[in-house]
Amino acid sequence: MSNFGSILIISGPSGAGKSSLIKAAGDKIGDYYFSISTTTRAPREGERDGIDYFFVDKETFEADIRAGEFLEYAQVHGNYYGTSLKPVREALEAGKLVIFDIDVQGHAIARERMGDLITSVFVTTPTLEELKRRLKHRGTDNETIIQNRIENALIEIEYITAYDFLIVNDDFEKALDSFIAVAKAARLKKGRKQALQFINKWRGQ
Ligand code: 5GP
Repeated sequence: MSNFGSILIISGPSGAGKSSLIKAAGDKIGDYYFSISTTTRAPREGERDGIDYFFVDKETFEADIRAGEFLEYAQVHGNYYGTSLKPVREALEAGKLVIFDIDVQGHAIARERMGDLITSVFVTTPTLEELKRRLKHRGTDNETIIQNRIENALIEIEYITAYDFLIVNDDFEKALDSFIAVAKAARLKKGRKQALQFINKWRGQ
């Protein structure tokens, strides 16, 4: 079978622990490419350009939209966020598992465009109360931003049904085990084109 990659989409409210899970999974899920999104939001303390996000202004982002650079993009919490197509395509061609940390709107668009390559997982806290507690505890955002994120979470939670898997991040070690299992399964997902190629090869054609 041609060594083509696949995609794992991870979504869920800010503060549910998505980045922590990806970081903690590290080399336990094999070689993967984390898709670095482009955003117009300001960097948080400790975030670095080109590592956490590509931080750009609104004009640059809108020029990239017009140039067709994005596989998907959306407005979240009043800022633009988008996934660039080119690095994703290259990583897929190199046979890698590509991980997207994107919101529910981005998930819907990516599914339409590349659904046969995608496995998706929604990560959340056990309750809304717990999400509020974690966002306050994180201390990286002011009261208005936290309120905005909570309101967004109340909408996002309704999209759970569109995802293949749900991870409730109550006990971090358990959530991590589940995430590793999902990522390993995602790697085995094969697109239609790759399946047809395999069938032909298997038949000796
Ligand atoms: P944060 O500002 O907390 O880093 O991210 C806010 C939300 O934007 C999260 O739900 C995150 O998954 C989402 N997000 C990050 N990058 C992208 C992207 O490229 N596309 C879309 N649609 N959402 C994104």
